[in-house]
Amino acid sequence: MDFAHYIGGEWVGDSDVTTNTSPANRDDVIGTYARGDAARVDQAVSAALAAQPDWASASPQLRHDVLERAGALIVERKDELGRLLAREEGKTIAEAVGETVRASQVFKFFAGEALRNTGDAVASVRPGIDVMIEREAVGVIGLITPWNFPIAIPAWKLAPALAYGNAVVMKPAELTPGCAWELAKILDEAGCPAGIFNLVMGPGSKVGARIVEHEDIAAVSFTGSVATGRQVAVDCAARGKKVQLEMGGKNPMVVVDDADLDVAVGASLNGAFFSTGQRCTASSRLIVTAGIHDAFLDKLTAAAADLVIGDPLDAKTQIGPVVDQGQLDQNLEYLALAATEGCDVRGGGLGNGNGFFMHPAIFAGASNQMRVSREEIFGPMASVIKVADYDEALAVANDTEFGLSSGICTTSLKIATDFRRNAKAGMVMVNLPTAGVDYHVPFGGRKGSSYGPREQGSYAREFYTTVKTSYIAP
Ligand code: NAD
Repeated sequence: MDFAHYIGGEWVGDSDVTTNTSPANRDDVIGTYARGDAARVDQAVSAALAAQPDWASASPQLRHDVLERAGALIVERKDELGRLLAREEGKTIAEAVGETVRASQVFKFFAGEALRNTGDAVASVRPGIDVMIEREAVGVIGLITPWNFPIAIPAWKLAPALAYGNAVVMKPAELTPGCAWELAKILDEAGCPAGIFNLVMGPGSKVGARIVEHEDIAAVSFTGSVATGRQVAVDCAARGKKVQLEMGGKNPMVVVDDADLDVAVGASLNGAFFSTGQRCTASSRLIVTAGIHDAFLDKLTAAAADLVIGDPLDAKTQIGPVVDQGQLDQNLEYLALAATEGCDVRGGGLGNGNGFFMHPAIFAGASNQMRVSREEIFGPMASVIKVADYDEALAVANDTEFGLSSGICTTSLKIATDFRRNAKAGMVMVNLPTAGVDYHVPFGGRKGSSYGPREQGSYAREFYTTVKTSYIAP
């Protein structure tokens, strides 16, 4: 075994391992990572429970300094970490380095937030009594993360958890333990006290399930698929735990007749296909009004065909592989389904090389009722749905069980404003791809996409703290 769990400030090995290989080259072995079980989670929770009270009651300067140093170490090592990320997840090196820089920014932002944990002082309705409202740490928090943003998502859960005085047991996705392991090393180097951050790698069915059921874990933040997330919520509710879920999307990008065609094609190409379409915020439904539809479709088809598919470590590559054989098989099934459902499928063939490469696919002539337009595919594929006008476009955009990100391309302030007001989504993008967000503002959605308080920015405090109201009669 090359890479151990991090528990109570120690590296703890296991005889069972996961071999981490690159989706771009199946012969490229990144390393063998310890594969834990329920007992490892129990060990990590004990360490976290013992360490958390001192961390929460310490000066916020300590928490600030640890997070600030972690942010600095990440950005110092951005090229090396970005390379690891590109190898283990498959996104391009530019995207991977960008994600790594984002993780650093998140740590630095929450270093500042550790110093800004303000409360309220309110006059009591009863004379002579003071009322204070403060936010305290929740306790030990379980973090369960997906493979598609293997450094940014752990960072945006970890940094606020630590900033507000919690201890953490984190379980990364089995496909991408490498970036999470490097974060553990960086927090160790940054002086995070033993037991405050614990990393337990392994399968969701054992490690993830134990995090959810452990009675001393007070809250669980989960990002992943809808099916797993809903079960996590049910299991947390049954145990009275706080829970936050970020799940799937079927994000619409509306293009109306007055849109700038180049802006619309650029935003759709990026939103649908970059990061190989493996983003919860990907634009998988391109809803286009009749007057611009044909020009848009032709230009998008040509631009998609020109995208360079290949080795994520090659700077010329624009689309890396999909993450594993299971995801590739599922993508190919959806590709076949699109044809069966009556779409004119453009692109989508397998790429060359010893990895899970496929070309982006456009499902022209799709309707919003087809399965390919309703189910999250999580690959480089998008439906193009023709509608009569803006009103129909808005109705189709909102006709989905998801509600994460919703985009529109238009040059009309009136239409943009109406869309911003009426899109049933947590995030709205005007003349921008549905994917691509800032780190200092809330991230999250509605309906089937999210559950519980928002992540990121100062709104993250809602989940990672608990409120105490004190009444003081002097
Ligand atoms: P997944 O649900 O398969 O796994 C997510 C995590 O849950 C993994 O760490 C996994 O090991 C763990 N897990 C699995 N079974 C579990 C169980 N029984 N109990 C506890 N934990 C368990 O998702 P994935 O395939 O890793 O990620 C892709 C999904 O993530 C997509 O649906 C995507 O939309 C979603 N996602 C959402 C966001 C967002 O912020 N909304 C961001 C990124 C990805």
